[in-house]
Amino acid sequence: MCIVVAMNLIMLGAPGAGKGTQAQKLAAYLKVPQISTGDMLRQAVAEGTSLGIEARKYMDAGKLVPDEVVVGIVNERIRKEDCRNGFILDGFPRTLEQAKALDKIARIDHVINIDVPEEILVERITGRRSCKKCGAVYHVKYNPPKHKDRCDVCGEALYQRDDDREETVRKRLETYRNQTKVLINYYSDQHKLVNIDGNREIEAIFKDILAKLGAE
Ligand code: AMP
Repeated sequence: MCIVVAMNLIMLGAPGAGKGTQAQKLAAYLKVPQISTGDMLRQAVAEGTSLGIEARKYMDAGKLVPDEVVVGIVNERIRKEDCRNGFILDGFPRTLEQAKALDKIARIDHVINIDVPEEILVERITGRRSCKKCGAVYHVKYNPPKHKDRCDVCGEALYQRDDDREETVRKRLETYRNQTKVLINYYSDQHKLVNIDGNREIEAIFKDILAKLGAE
């Protein structure tokens, strides 16, 4: 049985660590929204909004979208009714400035840091395939769909994100090292960090997260 008080969570980790996969499972289990800044930005790009046109320049280069832009998006999103019983931030914050801005607008309970060695991340990301329609994520080798290039959930064709190609992936990992990794210490100092070994099966990682949150 799942009896859990409202929790505001952050998923932290390098690109490809499995933040999105675990956030999605956790969101379904805890019945709270998964808030992925990457997904929101990709949606803006697909819709061709002025935000999307601006964000795309950074995303295609493996760089971070400016702090004030993403902080604004998150601030608006977490004020919505469906976040009242908790939320899971996936891919935000990614800089110290974002983390400090977040501290001013929300109470964070736990920060789940998914740790995966860097040499494994490149293979993980370049093999990643996503569903444009429902957002489900697969891996050609480690988590393939039942029917090649088709989503198990909704049957839509799967695609590779533009920024999941090797050159951009290496740049994104560098961005993580230079700008995001400091958040491990930031949240450790706040006694909110929950370290998770992300180099295991998806289900084993998920069970470990639930156990460490006391949410089993
Ligand atoms: P993701 O899907 O989380 O890997 O994000 C894809 C891309 O969106 C990143 O490489 C960034 O360019 C941009 N992005 C997502 N979240 C953030 C954030 N919190 N701050 C700045 N840029 C972000």
